Amino acid sequence: MALNLHTPDIARLDFLCERVRPQALSAPQLALVSDTLAVEMGIDPDTLRQADTVRQLAGSAGHYDPAPIATVYSGHQFGVYVPQLGDGRTMLLGDWRSADGRRWEIQLKGSGKTPFSRFADGRAVLRSSLREYLASEAMHALGIPTTRALALTASPDPVYREQPETAAVVTRVAESFLRFGHFEYFYRRSQHEYLAPLADHVIAHHYPECAAAERPYAALFAAVSARTARLMAQWQSVGFCHGVMNTDNMSLLGLTIDYGPYGFLDCYDRAHICNHSDHGGRYAYQEQPYIAQWNLLQLASAFLPLAEEGELVTILNNYGSHYRQAYLDLMRAKLGLHSAQDGDLTLISELFDLMQAQQADFTLTFRALADVDAHSDRLPESLAARFAEDIGGIHAWCSRYRARLQAEQSHQSERHTQMKQTNPLYVPRNHLLEAAIAAAQNGDFSVAERLQTCLRDPFTERAEYADLAAAAPAWAKEICVSCSS
Ligand code: AMP
Ligand code: MG
Repeated sequence: MALNLHTPDIARLDFLCERVRPQALSAPQLALVSDTLAVEMGIDPDTLRQADTVRQLAGSAGHYDPAPIATVYSGHQFGVYVPQLGDGRTMLLGDWRSADGRRWEIQLKGSGKTPFSRFADGRAVLRSSLREYLASEAMHALGIPTTRALALTASPDPVYREQPETAAVVTRVAESFLRFGHFEYFYRRSQHEYLAPLADHVIAHHYPECAAAERPYAALFAAVSARTARLMAQWQSVGFCHGVMNTDNMSLLGLTIDYGPYGFLDCYDRAHICNHSDHGGRYAYQEQPYIAQWNLLQLASAFLPLAEEGELVTILNNYGSHYRQAYLDLMRAKLGLHSAQDGDLTLISELFDLMQAQQADFTLTFRALADVDAHSDRLPESLAARFAEDIGGIHAWCSRYRARLQAEQSHQSERHTQMKQTNPLYVPRNHLLEAAIAAAQNGDFSVAERLQTCLRDPFTERAEYADLAAAAPAWAKEICVSCSS
């Protein structure tokens, strides 16, 4: 077999795992490869392009050793507890260990049915697989913790959703794919004897610093909570909406996981709902930090047999301050501010109020702030263009912003450079993804590949990608992305 994989560490938790076999796709074609990830993992990208590796990564190899694994979990979906979910269309192929001793789990998504598929087909369509593939690598380039995507293989095999589509497999990579729902499953089934071994595994492999704590399980919950708070602040700071923040889609490692109907904000709208199946707006952009805390509450319940209730409650109550601190740090960096002042949150909120009223583009507004001159009241063209209907409003805000910048005595050109490295120019906007999907469905992956190459460096402006930096066209508002995938 092309990639020489090890039995995953998680296989020792046999109460969690079922051995499964991928179901082969016909005529698998390697559509996209993340060479950057391959190099990080110490894999020769050429190896990925060999026919036997392609079959391995498409779930189409004749034999798998070690046998792939599907895990069981449960979770709260849209606030309602669903007692059994699990890896219904994903399977862990094994652990990859690089020469420098790092370890990655390699998982296939869309490789066929498992004991946890319930009524579904175990497949993933090309459309959603391409969205997941591109977003994972784009988020990584933005500096946001995420599962990664090593390869996308496509097949002409039909998959039926609202209409017939074709199948694909994403080869996902992460330090771990464990979720809140893994703990919920054993807690809710009153199989509490499995909670400690599961927590011990997570500590040993992913949070070794907790092992030395006086109460390691409480320390683990605190660490997961802190990472989750930071992740939420990072999502908010780039306008990322996940769309399906069910507890089974919450990583125990604070990674962005399970990209479905996600979206990056085009026009700023704090009430934006990216998932058309989310009628009540439970997972709207502005709700995400609160939903994460609600999800942590569900995880805290599952930790009740492991830790003192009072301590878990205290940790939950600290989530808000962790989130606020991380958010303020990120937003200050976006505004090019080094120091902390009392009025900073107000300054940020006032900017968002203007953006909301003017439907200003999220990404391009922040990008334009770097051009504000701390010593001149001339409004940069790039900023004025976003607020054409209320120039007075943005003028007034900019004068407060300039006063704030002057108080810092920051160096104009250094601030400019730092802000351009903090505020991305290129994000995977829905309309760009739609164009890449339409071409891919016709067998042309060059549009997706170009987008992937551009998003690898979201901060450096390049003339050849001017079209990928533009604000969304009017038709983008009509793009309908639902849970169907
Ligand atoms: P998701 O909303 O994609 O996070 O999936 C929720 C649950 O449904 C998970 O347990 C998935 O494994 C399962 N699932 C989603 N789509 C499929 C599918 N096509 N086949 C089997 N299981 C699926
Ligand atoms: Mg999921």
